[in-house]
Order: sequence, then structure tokens, then C-alpha cells
Amino acid sequence: MSRPISAPRGTRDLLPEDGAAWGRVEAIARDLSARYAFERIETPLFERTELFARGLGESSDAVEKEMFRVSGAAGSEEERAEWALRPEPTAGIVRAFVEHGMHVRPGPLRLWMLGPMFRYDRPQAGRFRQFSQWDVEVIGDPGPMVDAELIELGHRFYGEAGLADVVAYVNSIGDGNCRPAYRQKLVDYFGAHEDRLSADSRRRLRVNPLRVLDDKDLDADLAAGAPRSLDNLCDACRAHFDGVRGLLDALKVRYEIDHRLVRGLDYYTRTTFEFFIAGRRGQQQALGGGGRYDGLAELLGGQPTPGIGFGLGIDRTVLATAEQGVAQPAETPLVAVISTDPGALEPRLRVAGALRSAGLRVRADGSARRLGRQLESAVKLGALWAVIVGEELGRGNVILRDLDAHEQRELPLGEVATTIG
Ligand code: AMP
Repeated sequence: MSRPISAPRGTRDLLPEDGAAWGRVEAIARDLSARYAFERIETPLFERTELFARGLGESSDAVEKEMFRVSGAAGSEEERAEWALRPEPTAGIVRAFVEHGMHVRPGPLRLWMLGPMFRYDRPQAGRFRQFSQWDVEVIGDPGPMVDAELIELGHRFYGEAGLADVVAYVNSIGDGNCRPAYRQKLVDYFGAHEDRLSADSRRRLRVNPLRVLDDKDLDADLAAGAPRSLDNLCDACRAHFDGVRGLLDALKVRYEIDHRLVRGLDYYTRTTFEFFIAGRRGQQQALGGGGRYDGLAELLGGQPTPGIGFGLGIDRTVLATAEQGVAQPAETPLVAVISTDPGALEPRLRVAGALRSAGLRVRADGSARRLGRQLESAVKLGALWAVIVGEELGRGNVILRDLDAHEQRELPLGEVATTIG
């Protein structure tokens, strides 16, 4: 026997028993996308690495350490092409926005996407190399109303998924006007305490000082004394953030200010936010996060266009619903179509087709086993009903058997769906 091959590290197979929980969460995402008037967009799973380097920033973890590189076929011109699997959706979507000249469309554009992202990170609980995100982007709306709308939408998603106690942590990291001075304040402050910083933070201090605040190992006292971006916003950023907060307060959206929330990517400006289960902040990674990226379109060669979006992790949301014991929806009852006649394959398929047209969930047994055996397997597969196809079909009838009650009767095929109903 040859050696079995296992799935790559950091990936997971979605097995049939997990499908219902995933399907439910994905259905909520699709449904909310429609109710919030978003339009679907799909971008390739891989893009030029330059897109991510320029968009996300060379110093972001996603680009510096976690880029999942892809090469073309051996011997092809593209063999050494610089491509990477997408680590996040926004850069690709804004690339598409610029490439297709979408700024001329009636805006703001409201786009959604649901699919896998890839980061070559160290795998651990809740952190995979391939994971799935529901993503929404609003391009061309300077806010602040849309910022509040997206934070409210995130809450609604977790609420409809059945999660209790989700909090949005919110901050503003300013823009090109006020961030340089704030950045300098951080460099001065942390530079004076460099001996208390981790090696990672000392490096971050040079390339992206805001990300020192992001360091989980940052000394708590040092963090508490650090200059806060909210105290260093220019008037326009301050007014924007006050606007967002005012709306969140008025809508009674559950949020907390987090002065250390900077998000990891360079493209963010002004509002940043992440969703967590309340009280689990320390032990748990974010369920989702997002923010404003008013400079990104221009950075990618387009017209200056404000934008904001979020990516909510499907994997972590499904894990959290399992942890919180959220009930899964009941499946529609399964009907097994079986037959006493080993040769009668076409009638089985025809009857199954008619029942499916009537909306039932049906599997047809194509075996030549004895009827008793077919009934046994139907029960094992979880069927509640069996439809037995025999000579009655000549009269347009079948036998409907209640597999729990062990009762059966003949009835017209057209009445099966209403009888089970
Ligand atoms: P980020 O843009 O890194 O904040 O990611 C947004 C969301 O995607 C996170 O809050 C997670 O729910 C999810 N996510 C990010 N990275 C991973 C990963 N490696 N494994 C599973 N989910 C992830």
C-alpha cells in the first residue's frame, strides 16, 4: 500500500459534518450583503506581489513574513514571476476598481466578496494558512456615516450568527496630515525606552512605529504612557472620528475605544476597528477587523478616492459559534427512494427527480439489494421517509413509508411532498 498524503500544514478540510455550520454563517454573510445593497465582486486568488508590497506596505507582517508565493509552470516565461496568493482582499478589489475605471460609475460603490485568503503564518488554534473571509468595501464615500454603518453591520453579522457579547474596538489613526507628527512622538517616546522593547518592537520602531503599539509583549506601563493617536488628530480627522462615535452612540452599537488598535497594514487611515468577544481580548484573536483607507486608490495608480471596508473571519466565527453552543438549523427531512425491482433504475431517478422538483431532499438508492437492506441503509443515512417505487407507478402511485413509525401506504406521487410537508 502506498503512503497516505496529508493536507498541507495550516490548512483544514471542511468535512461534511462541518458543512451545516459553515453554510449557515456564509448564508448570513450573503444575505446581509444583499440587504445592505452590496454588489458582488471576485478578484483572482493570486496577484502580483508588487500589489501587496505597495498596498499593504513592505513592513507589514503580511508582506514581510507571510507572503505565500506562487510561480508559473516550470519552463514558462512566468516561472519566476512575482506572484502571491492574496493575504487579504482589499488590495485586489481596489486594484480592480482602478483597472476597470470604476470611479466613473454611480457611487459610492458597495462591494462584497467571500472566499479564501492565504498567509504563510505559523499555524496555531484559530490561525490557519488558508482561511476564509467575508469582506465588504465601500469605495468613494468619505464618511463618517458609512464608518458607523459598517461597524453596525459587523455587529449584525455576529448577532445573526448567534454570538453573544461581541464588542467592536475602535480607534482613529489619523491621516497623512496628522500621522507624521504622531509617528514622530511615538519614535521619541519609545526610543527613550528602547531597552524595555522586544526585539520585534525595536525593529518596528524603525520601519513602522505605530506597530509597536500592536506588540502583544509590550510592557503594560509603557503602553499606558504612550502618546495616543486620538490626542494627536488634526481637526478634520477629529471631526470625522467624533462623527463616527456620535452615530455609534446614537445607534447604541457596542464599542470601546482602544488606543492601541492600529491594524497591521500601511493603507489604513482614520477609523480602524476590530471585533472580539467581550472579556476574551487577551486569549483570543480578533473575529474580524477593518478600517478606512482613503489613500489606497491613489497609491495603486488611481484617482484619489476614499474607501473603507472590513474582513470578518468565517473560520473564527464558526469556531466561536461552536464554543458558545449556538444551535444549528434543523435540516429538511431526508427522503430515500428505493425499489423492489433491481432493474428499475430509471423509475427511481424519475421519482427522485419529481420529489426534488417539489422541494424535497432526496437520495435514490441504485442498488440491487433486498428491500429490507435498502430500508436499513436509508435509516442509517438519516432518512425519515422512504418512497418505494414498484408496479404502483403504473397507476402514478408510490408507497410512502414512515421509517420511524414503520407505517406505510400507497398514494399518488404528486401527494408525497404535501403529505411529508
Ligand atoms: P486581519 O485583516 O488580519 O485583521 O484579518 C481579518 C480577520 O480575518 C481576522 O479577524 C480573522 O477573523 C481572520 N483571519 C486573519 N488571519 C487569519 C488566519 N491566519 N487564520 C484564520 N483567520 C484569520
